[in-house]
Amino acid sequence: MAATSRGTSPVPPDVRPRLTVLSGPSGVGKSTVVAHMRSVHPEVWLSVSATTRKPRPGERDGVHYFFVDDEEFDKLIANGELLEWAEFAGNRYGTPRRAVLDRLEAGEPVLLEIDLQGARLVRQSMPEARLVFLAPPSWEELVRRLTGRGTEAPDVIERRLAAARTELAAEAEFDTTLVNTSVEDVARELLTLMLQASGLSGTGD
Ligand code: 5GP
Repeated sequence: MAATSRGTSPVPPDVRPRLTVLSGPSGVGKSTVVAHMRSVHPEVWLSVSATTRKPRPGERDGVHYFFVDDEEFDKLIANGELLEWAEFAGNRYGTPRRAVLDRLEAGEPVLLEIDLQGARLVRQSMPEARLVFLAPPSWEELVRRLTGRGTEAPDVIERRLAAARTELAAEAEFDTTLVNTSVEDVARELLTLMLQASGLSGTGD
């Protein structure tokens, strides 16, 4: 029998598939990495969050987010329908609980792309989750990405940079760090981590 790519011991039957959480400072490129991974591997399931943010051009309800108003978001919280939620830049974002648990119970890898506050909440409620920190190649590169659009006022940029400094310090709380030097490489590494987490083998990539 051919050896599996996992190598040594088989996965014990009581090991549940793990949730993989991708987080990191804003501006680091999390959504670009995830979008790339899904373009190569559309079969990978990504949780669709609920948000009170208004859709950006091209964003579709139920695909990029479930766009809800404040009242609906309050109801999701009150009914315990969110695995975690956080406020980010004046809007609320949350992970629908049921869909995530259903996938995990079906033995499928599950990916969340959420902010740092959300990652910390997942760590508390699901300690078996694997937390992946996406780091910029350098501080200068993150500054370049955050200021790159050239549309923000200097004080706004200052606030974002101050936040980014704090956010970078969170790396130590994570299980794994991936450095975003190349979108393709990081997407591949992330997929490998996800398949390990769920006890599946090989990427066929
Ligand atoms: P954006 O408005 O740019 O789509 O997202 C803003 C931030 O919210 C990003 O850092 C993104 O990862 C995070 N985010 C998206 N969905 C969720 C969620 O369900 N929970 C939490 N905590 N953060 C989220």
